[in-house]
Amino acid sequence: MDMKNMDPSRFMGFDSPVLPHLGQKPELVVYGTDDPMMWVELQPNVFFRPLFFDMVTGAHCEMLKVKGGGHLGRHKHSSPVHGYVIKGRWKYLEHSWEATEGSFLFEAPGEVHTLVVDEEVEEMITFFYVGGSLTYMDDDDNILSVEDNLSLIEMCCEHFEKVGLGGDFVHNFIR
Ligand code: FE
Repeated sequence: MDMKNMDPSRFMGFDSPVLPHLGQKPELVVYGTDDPMMWVELQPNVFFRPLFFDMVTGAHCEMLKVKGGGHLGRHKHSSPVHGYVIKGRWKYLEHSWEATEGSFLFEAPGEVHTLVVDEEVEEMITFFYVGGSLTYMDDDDNILSVEDNLSLIEMCCEHFEKVGLGGDFVHNFIR
């Protein structure tokens, strides 16, 4: 089955903009799903699901999922981050607290931290609003890589191409 240019209505909804003559873009609802086609594997057991890319501010919304323990490398943010833990729990190596199911969290730009999910946590799912770029660093603060909307969209584009939806499928998440 060729799924290229597949009708996106299985995964999301949007109507025609109310004010298209003023350049208004449509709203967007992205439905909850476990479908592996919507989850990009960042590293073994760590998955990223795109929800929304704002190309005006450079912010994006995502779901992060970790199965059976894992971590997200040491990094800092250029802009504020807001999160809400939907399932499971996680912590930062650099902090005393743990983000448990139902917790809201705020991350200040510039702070360096490493997200860790314990092995005994079967599944962790957190929603994040990420206001800008992420800079990944080693323990000596050498920059390893920088992640922003452009690199994330490129990554999603490759993923959607690979799973048969076509790279352009990522356009459905961009405003
Ligand atoms: Fe962070």
